[in-house]
Formats: sequence, structure tokens, C-alpha cells
Amino acid sequence: MMQVGGATLRPVIEIEDLRTPPQFFISDITAADLLEHAAVLSPRFVDLATGECRLSQHAWLIEVGGKRILVDPCVGHRRHRAVPFYHMIDSPLLDRLEAMGAGPESIDYVFCTHLHLDHVGWNTRLRDGRYVPTFPNARYLFSRAEERYWRGEMTGALRGEEFNAGVFAECVEPVITAGLADLVDPGTRIADCLTLIDSAGHTIGHLAGVLESAGEGVVLAGDAIHHPLQVLLPDRPFHAHDEARARASRLRLLDLCAERDWWLAPAHFRAPHLCKVRREGGRHRLEWP
Ligand SMILES: [Zn+2]
Repeated sequence: MMQVGGATLRPVIEIEDLRTPPQFFISDITAADLLEHAAVLSPRFVDLATGECRLSQHAWLIEVGGKRILVDPCVGHRRHRAVPFYHMIDSPLLDRLEAMGAGPESIDYVFCTHLHLDHVGWNTRLRDGRYVPTFPNARYLFSRAEERYWRGEMTGALRGEEFNAGVFAECVEPVITAGLADLVDPGTRIADCLTLIDSAGHTIGHLAGVLESAGEGVVLAGDAIHHPLQVLLPDRPFHAHDEARARASRLRLLDLCAERDWWLAPAHFRAPHLCKVRREGGRHRLEWP
């Protein structure tokens, strides 16, 4: 658990050790790059023996001012997914929330930074053959630009996003139909302390959350930054909906954290899951709690 001003933050882990080739994050990465940063990254974030990047799959549970906010509720339980390491997983997320004393009825807000399969899964669950909202008392916050874009999956307008097939229809549309969704733009503020800011690039309307409380802050960065490698090498190319915007968003969030001394809390950093960012000589450095 992390205390940030008057707020508590807890990661809710769905998958503890996901592994991908580093080229997934930085397309021109070399073995020499990994070795150069081995002291910072190995073994927790990079397996030097296999050359793989190691990631976590988690949601963030925030408790502040008597409200509970769940950020990016992961992949979901036994979903048919086009991404092999997410396909038909047994997800412990809901059980873990319950064990934390945060059952589904107690969640006030669900904020999805974007509408990829691993950030919206537990928005819904299967009941009598239908997907229904998992958190019946929550307002769900979806980026308006994301909703407009991914809705194309249902109308046939979407092309080249097969890895996300079925996700809008199962995990987003049922929430909208139930009247629990708010389509939001950058600048939206909830619970008196969480402001949603533009961080587009990874996806068309990606939002980050900035939580400020009692002089402290944390940036819930979603997938604007996936892996610590991207803090160390933020300029390098990364496959994204819009690479130039993704790079600009990544740098803006890193600088925001460095300038304000705020925590950076992305969706896929392994334990301790969040860090401070220091700027030295034009480079960024990670500092763990
Ligand atoms: Zn993700």
C-alpha cells in the first residue's frame, strides 16, 4: 500500500510476471542497450538470460475521501482473446479486490485509461449468458475519443485492430447500455482530486489520471509508459497508434513527475509498481520507493 497525501493506492495484481521481447516496447532495441541498463533493470524488469522484458498486469485501487476508484480493470476471466498470453486466463482480480475489502458493490468509479483488452476486462462479467457491469454502483469513465474509435468494432468501421476483437462489445457497450458510463474529455475531475489529462498516442484518446492530495501527487499513466526501459530511453521508437504523439505524451508525463516530485504509476510496472522520476543531464532516472 502506498500513501499519497490523503489517498491510499494499492495495485491489484492479475498477472505477476508477463514476458515479452523488448522489441515490443522499443522496436530498435539492442542487446547492448539492455546490458547498459542491466544494473537498473535486471532481474526484476528484464531477464538477461532470455532477453525478455518482464511486466505486471494490474489494476490500481485508490481510496480517497471515502470514495473508491478502480483504474484499468485488467483482462477479465476466461475471455477469448487474440493475444496468446491473455487468452482464457483464470483471473484472480475480483477475488483479490474482495480480499482487500473492496467488493464490486463498493467501487464508486472505474476509470479506463484506454479501451485495450487488458484495461477493460473486468468492467463486465458473464451472468446468464450476458455480459453485465461488474461494478453496479460505479460511474465508469471512458475517454470520449476512445469510445468513438473503438465503437467502430461493432459497426465494422475499424480496421487493423484485430488483437482487440470482441472487447468493445463485451466490456464497454454493456456498461453504456446499462447507463453507467460517462464519456469524458481531458480536464475531467472526479472525487475532488483525480484529474484526467491527455496522453494520447499509444491509442487515439488515451487519458492519464493525475491524483493530487495534500501536496503529493501520482500520475496513473496507463500505457503511456509500459516498461522502465521507456523511462530510460523515452525518445526511442515504440509501436503506437500515433508514434509522434506517444513519444510527446511519454516525455510530458515523465517531465511532469520529475518537476513536481510526483509518483509515476503505470499499468504494467512490476513491484514496487510505481517510481519517482529524476532528470539528470537531460536523461531520466528511476527512483523506487
Ligand atoms: Zn496495457
